[in-house]
Amino acid sequence: MTNNIEDKISIVAREIAKDGNNVVFTGAGISTESGIPDFRSKGGIWDKYRPIYFDEFMSSKEARIEYWKRHAELYPDLMKARPNPAHMAVAQLYEMGLLEAVITQNIDGLHQDSGIPGEQVIELHGNTRRVRCMSCRKIVSLHEVHKRIEQGDSAPECECGGYLKSDTISFGQAMPVNEVEKATELSQNADFFMVIGSTLLVHPAAAMPGYATKYGSFLVILNLSETPYDDVSNVLIQGKAGQILPEITKEVRRLKEQKSA
Ligand code: NAD
Repeated sequence: MTNNIEDKISIVAREIAKDGNNVVFTGAGISTESGIPDFRSKGGIWDKYRPIYFDEFMSSKEARIEYWKRHAELYPDLMKARPNPAHMAVAQLYEMGLLEAVITQNIDGLHQDSGIPGEQVIELHGNTRRVRCMSCRKIVSLHEVHKRIEQGDSAPECECGGYLKSDTISFGQAMPVNEVEKATELSQNADFFMVIGSTLLVHPAAAMPGYATKYGSFLVILNLSETPYDDVSNVLIQGKAGQILPEITKEVRRLKEQKSA
């Protein structure tokens, strides 16, 4: 395999332009250039906070207070964040009709903001812009919840008495069955599977590239640091998503125009 970045970009673009089942899988790394820190890099979220496990959230009011205090701290930055050139480059592949779906571990909603329809974005870990009651499962307005927190309700509850929690998957919480099924199916049927900005350490999400390669997909990994799948990838690019992806999309567009000329 070549080490030249231009060659790698050209190989990846050619694979995408074949117009098979192209699937993109994203992690926190695609959103760092939008100003949202990832979890495991230095200075990431785990350097600042300890994780609150789901059992702890459900059994301890102190844990729920800490959870919402943290949410109120992180929320303004999250709401300010906008899609960066990496999200936009993925959205352009979708516009060109060359992207089946995005499977994401992210909870920030930036793929939808970049113009990809919600049905085409499979959120494995939920979305932090929604709040859900852990008893009656009702969706509650995040804005309302934050207003209540500001007014001194430090661990807000639903009118049914259930605990309100952001609609994201905490450690120890069951994964959403439909999304995992859909992601597994997409991965198994992929002809081209590109991982962008994930350590590929969080399971079951991290199993998806394995399903893809098992069924013969071409695997691309674009990430700043190492992943357990680097050795089995067809193309490995260690670089910044916001710099590399626009180059890939530009080359795909050129190939597409060349084909139709
Ligand atoms: P992670 O923090 O474990 O790994 C992020 C990876 O992205 C790292 O390997 C890092 O080297 C790489 N990276 C950072 N900036 C990059 C860039 N500009 N270009 C390319 N690569 C870059 O994240 P993960 O694998 O997604 O798993 C952590 C969990 O964290 C996920 O479950 C996700 O739900 C959650 N999370 C989500 C967000 C978000 O929604 N934006 C933010 C933090 C964490």
